[in-house]
Amino acid sequence: MNTHNRKHYKKYRDYRKKEKAKREICPVCNKPINKIITAITHKETKKKAHFDCVLKELKKYYHLKPNEEVYYLGGGSFGIVEGPKGLKAKRFVIKRKIQYEEKQ
Ligand SMILES: [Zn+2]
Repeated sequence: MNTHNRKHYKKYRDYRKKEKAKREICPVCNKPINKIITAITHKETKKKAHFDCVLKELKKYYHLKPNEEVYYLGGGSFGIVEGPKGLKAKRFVIKRKIQYEEKQ
């Protein structure tokens, strides 16, 4: 291995190490979060959690009825909505707004 290659390899190794350290573990399912961009800050632990895990927790917590769903409304807030299932129509009613993530 010549000097150049060795340098290159070290850089690569450092990069890999950094990538690993950067990966956060979801406090709900204890699995690493690959797409941090879609992660959401978990309310209790203040750690990044999977979007789907937070959604599941909310559904459990608010005891949704069969005709209710939890939608992400943006800006760190969710909404419990009521409407016909399977329809992508925008005719759903937001019954309750949940401000989940603190606004930055
Ligand atoms: Zn998770």
